[in-house]
Amino acid sequence: MERKTITDTLQRPLRDLRISVTDRCNFRCTYCMPKEIFGRDYEFLGRDQLLSFEEIERLSRIFVAHGVEKIRLTGGEPLLRRDIEKLVSMLANIEGLQDIAMTTNGSLLIPKAKALKEAGLKRITVSLDSLDDATFMSLNDVDFPASKVLEAIDASADAGLTPVKVDMVVKRGVNDQDIVSMAGHFRNTGHILRFIEFMDVGSTNGWRMDEMVSAAEIVERINAVWPIEPVDPNYYGEVAERYRYIDGAGEIGIIASVTVPFCSACTRSRLTADGQLFTCLFGVRGHDMRSLLRSGASDEEIGAFLSRVWGQRTDRYSEIRSEGTIPLEKVEMSRIGG
Ligand code: SF4
Repeated sequence: MERKTITDTLQRPLRDLRISVTDRCNFRCTYCMPKEIFGRDYEFLGRDQLLSFEEIERLSRIFVAHGVEKIRLTGGEPLLRRDIEKLVSMLANIEGLQDIAMTTNGSLLIPKAKALKEAGLKRITVSLDSLDDATFMSLNDVDFPASKVLEAIDASADAGLTPVKVDMVVKRGVNDQDIVSMAGHFRNTGHILRFIEFMDVGSTNGWRMDEMVSAAEIVERINAVWPIEPVDPNYYGEVAERYRYIDGAGEIGIIASVTVPFCSACTRSRLTADGQLFTCLFGVRGHDMRSLLRSGASDEEIGAFLSRVWGQRTDRYSEIRSEGTIPLEKVEMSRIGG
């Protein structure tokens, strides 16, 4: 298939594909998969509803032919999907694909890091919301200790998946007291700690604006201890705002979807584990690609469908959030993979 670039109604090119390979997770983070909703009786996707590795690989080829350069594997928790390194190596063989990354909670990473790297994984992002076990356990709600995640970050570095990005979702009154201690821990490690403003993803995490700690406040708190300065983005559409320590101790990032929206350069598409294409993290309705795959559609037909969907894209949710026209039933983070 000939490679081409497709743009949406705001002239944003399709460059990134985030693939959720499972809607299951072994954590129950309160801002993503609260236990009250995702409890014992919750019906997760069945095996036959999930896209197979072959289906994911085929769709990825078509997305790459339409401009995608980077694929990120997400979940739920992607390492719950058996033999995930097999999928990584299938994707690594796609011509034109420049980067394969993964976002994980790190709980299953230690025995897998080396195999993922060997399979072709280029970058890894590990979520860690606090160094304090009591706080971290209250957030992941499965009593998983922070020390184990730190070991997983070390294992990723040993495997050559460097720099490791470490994502911290900051919630006021829950873990914002750990902003400076987290920054202190990752200074001079070469890893990039990124603070994420608490977002109203989905409709089950009970989001409130007053529980969100803004990027400006996070910068202020760190700058008061270790002076930092802004750095230019690495590339068009980069999500995190970059800052570096003036004393040379490294870099941090802030993902400020609420206070500094970045929709104008958003090049990201998302695929759920059951093959629904979403053009925004805060989307309400997906576009069914699995039925196309399973009804014998050709690559050209699927490509045309993708071009049509992306070509009609108008999403800029974070920019209009403050206008108050918020849809109720947004797709859940665990389904769309962040
Ligand atoms: S809110 Fe939607 S359009 Fe805006 S940056 Fe996020 S995913 Fe992109």
